[in-house]
Amino acid sequence: MKQFRKTLCLVAAVFAVLFASCSKNTSAGMKNGTYTGTGEGKGGDISVEITVKGGAVKDIKVLSHNETPGFDKAMETLKEQVIKTGTTALDTVSGCTLTSKGFLQAVGAAITQAGGNPEMNAAKTAGSIKKEAKEQSCDVVIIGAGGAGLAAAIEAKNAGADILVLEKMPMAGGNTLISGAEMAAPNNWIQQRDGITDSPEQFAKDMMKGGDNINNPELVNVIARNALDGAKWLRDECGVVWEDSLMFFGGHSVKRSLIPAGASGKELITKMLAKAESLKIPILYKTAALELIQDKDGRVTGVIAESDTVKYTLYAKKAVIIASGGFGSNIEMRKKYNPAVDEAILSTNTVGSTGDGITMAEKIGAALTDMEYIQTYPICDPLTGTLLYFDDARLYGHSVIVNKEGKRFVEELGRRDVISMAIKAQTGHCCYEIIDQRGFDESHLQANHAPEINYLMKNNLLTKADTLEKAAEFFGIDQKEVVETVKRYNTYVAKGKDEEFNKRSMVHPIEQAPFYILKAVPAVHHTMGGIKINTKAQVLKADGSAIPGLFAAGEVTGGVHGKNRLGSDAIADIIVFGRIAGKNAAQ
Ligand code: ADP
Repeated sequence: MKQFRKTLCLVAAVFAVLFASCSKNTSAGMKNGTYTGTGEGKGGDISVEITVKGGAVKDIKVLSHNETPGFDKAMETLKEQVIKTGTTALDTVSGCTLTSKGFLQAVGAAITQAGGNPEMNAAKTAGSIKKEAKEQSCDVVIIGAGGAGLAAAIEAKNAGADILVLEKMPMAGGNTLISGAEMAAPNNWIQQRDGITDSPEQFAKDMMKGGDNINNPELVNVIARNALDGAKWLRDECGVVWEDSLMFFGGHSVKRSLIPAGASGKELITKMLAKAESLKIPILYKTAALELIQDKDGRVTGVIAESDTVKYTLYAKKAVIIASGGFGSNIEMRKKYNPAVDEAILSTNTVGSTGDGITMAEKIGAALTDMEYIQTYPICDPLTGTLLYFDDARLYGHSVIVNKEGKRFVEELGRRDVISMAIKAQTGHCCYEIIDQRGFDESHLQANHAPEINYLMKNNLLTKADTLEKAAEFFGIDQKEVVETVKRYNTYVAKGKDEEFNKRSMVHPIEQAPFYILKAVPAVHHTMGGIKINTKAQVLKADGSAIPGLFAAGEVTGGVHGKNRLGSDAIADIIVFGRIAGKNAAQ
């Protein structure tokens, strides 16, 4: 995180110098007309066109961008603020830092072209706004518009409830949006086509084993039995498109994980949001739930929430559902429950994952469980902690992972926690993932994740070379050793048996130039612990009784994944329990 901040400060400093050079101009001095500007966002260039009338910016159009859907909402928020205040010296939208910076940089460049100073009216943004008090009432209030919250919202609405969703970020999606969103679903249609034998029982066994058998078996069984139905519901009810192949995630005994179109959470969230919109489900964005309201008998009857301008008292006639995600971005909370997961470890999570729901529920007597189990994801950006979709290559079985000495040190399809810890123990606490051109193509990296590939190349985190030696040289990896390692691996592929690490799926040898090497580190990815629930998604107290009127679903809950969550089990969890919570809350 520190490194990330450093990078951002550097970027900010560059902008400051850039803008300072035109500080003699004023916004008022801008000439009427339209002007374009370009800035660098997370997905590459952001181009905008501004319209200047009467010396002020009257309109801003985004001409092109490649930002993640959802994150682009940050640009709408900033557009309003720039037009209102006449300055680009604004705070970035939290959770969308790079998109915000790119947008403001583009607008700033256009203002400069118009003869203005983009930071001229910075003082106008200062000052506090007195919040208006508002009361509202509905049947069910849902906290969080990630995967679990949206699934709950759609089901509750379909069951006839009048609902309201609160989302503290300017966009929906949470960690679900930025995940690969693969979903474990035993006995799915692709397994049947490909002759893969599977069952809910086998999936439940894998989940238990993956969690070192401390998971709550009742919750595990609910997920295992309902995951396939959840995947079909996403397809048939929400329009989610599943790709025609499966991924093999570490710790699963068979290939059973469905891949959404584009291999990212964008597909799930855009389709679920569209469904929610078609059902006219209201979502209050930039509105954070702060505390739960209870009546004198302890029944949860509402939520206190707050936006920039309004303090809400929201009454829920039937129930409140907490679907506010985990606490991977809350360093203090991480350290409280597991001191080893401190600020030195980056996080893949959105900034919204601060454990608010856990804190609110605990305050009214909910029991928490497994809080110390915090999972790191092995293949993340060494600069920012972002989970890297390049890792699809590993999950398709195409890559080998080596250390600086050019040696393999772990089974590439093992459990995330095992791979992460193994990486931490290597030189530089990092690893190098190697694929060839065939692995690159067959993992659909260019088609699905081109902006990430460009970003990685630009930041010297990914290299491509005609020979393995040259690629290894780029990172200072032992060239002779890496060539030997890959040669040996290729003999295992030919034999169908990995004699060193027993890799469970080896698709083809690594031999077709050019070769690619990615540098990666582990980062906090999923918090297994959270609010204790039963199979009806009711929130439980320490004595095992349910808190009336309160449900929870998704990463905010604990007990489902035990000590360690297997890849693609989170989507199964959030969809299955999100739907259960929605249906039951609407009763
Ligand atoms: P899950 O996978 O369990 O659905 P996500 O991380 O995908 O979890 O979604 C959780 C959502 O809840 C995120 O969009 C996050 O911004 C939102 N959220 C977190 N805390 C609050 C809060 N206090 N009020 C409203 N929304 C919240």
